[in-house]
Amino acid sequence: STLKYKPFILHILKKSKIMELEKKSKIPEPIFILMVHDLLFSKTKRIQSKQHAWKDAIIKNRPRLEAELARLKIKHAVKSLDELIEDDDTPVRWFRTNLIKTNTDSLLREFSHLRKVNSIDEITNTGVIYHDEFIPNLFGIHPREKLTSTDAYKQGRVIIQDRASCFPAQILNPIPGKDKVIDACAAPGNKTTHLASLLNNSKRSIVAFERDNKRIDTIKMMVERAGGLDCITIHHADFTSTRPQDFKEITGMLVDPSCSGSGIFGRAFDEQDSTIDEDEAREKLNERLVKLSSFQCTIVKHALSFPNVRKVVYSTCSIHDEENEGVVRQLIEDEEVKKQGWKVSKRENVLPTWSRRGHPEVFKGYENAKELAEGCVRSLPKVDGGIGFFAVCFERKLDGDDDD
Ligand code: SAM
Repeated sequence: STLKYKPFILHILKKSKIMELEKKSKIPEPIFILMVHDLLFSKTKRIQSKQHAWKDAIIKNRPRLEAELARLKIKHAVKSLDELIEDDDTPVRWFRTNLIKTNTDSLLREFSHLRKVNSIDEITNTGVIYHDEFIPNLFGIHPREKLTSTDAYKQGRVIIQDRASCFPAQILNPIPGKDKVIDACAAPGNKTTHLASLLNNSKRSIVAFERDNKRIDTIKMMVERAGGLDCITIHHADFTSTRPQDFKEITGMLVDPSCSGSGIFGRAFDEQDSTIDEDEAREKLNERLVKLSSFQCTIVKHALSFPNVRKVVYSTCSIHDEENEGVVRQLIEDEEVKKQGWKVSKRENVLPTWSRRGHPEVFKGYENAKELAEGCVRSLPKVDGGIGFFAVCFERKLDGDDDD
């Protein structure tokens, strides 16, 4: 709850100057944030701690904090606190059939109480369901529709996953019985389990890497819940330290590395740290984007170096060019990548009917700038029915491959 309200809490902290006023108390910023949350935003409006000097210091400032909250509500033209964060919710709740456990016909019978509609614009209230035209076996419902209390959800027959986040596995489109794939950055496991669904849960067809100590447990849980244990081998390791020669059987890869997350609601607001001014914020963001895009290039380049891989799908939930087309540009200019025969897949092989494509201006100077941009897919936060997202596919032919 604190994280949801964090941008507003930071605003109140700044405007009330409470951190300066209480400097002597030496209260760490996270404690300020938590306590102000409890005082202003929690149901009880009470700080959840025993008697403590920090608690007293904050309570002493209650009138000042309440006055700032009142101003904030006026500014956003809201009466209740819930309205402040309503904007953070997705316009459509997306879920896909988990083909490991059921099929779409059976699933639709479970949701037969919902009226079918033909576009996301018709999802204005509960009671309707939309079968997506871009991703097979994906459905959209109103975010207030009860989904997590259904048996279909509890028993793992459906998996909640944003539409655009389903693009990478769909673009890779691995063939069951033929392809073996790596998910290089796997936790929490949405795309890994989507791959398992597409691969009919074929035995040992997916290797998933995750380097984070905590997130490795999350992916293990998700894979178990989805029923993909036979199909997915999970490695708790840094993907960039793997030896490509050890994975000769791998034909395709997903690389969905850490990114700024600027396509996710709420976090975009987060980026605008309210304690610094606009120029400083832009400079900080630029520095961060340089670091992130350098890491993103390194990890995709590693993926491109596996000996028998024909397709690598790179994706982010960022809206920044630097992490998206900018990374693609750096990679296609890399001598090693060129030598390995990699090209950006054409639009006809990358969700051709999805209309929002990449930004051609980033490929300025290239004869085929438009074609390169058309090969990329983008989605805008909210406007396109979910999170902001980017995906591109690199492909190549190896000796002996058919030319079609
Ligand atoms: N693909 C995931 C999904 O759809 O559920 C989301 C992936 S998230 C954007 C990025 C993940 O990559 C994080 O869990 C992060 O810990 C992991 N990661 C980052 N660098 C990595 C590396 N070098 N090797 C393995 N995992 C890495």
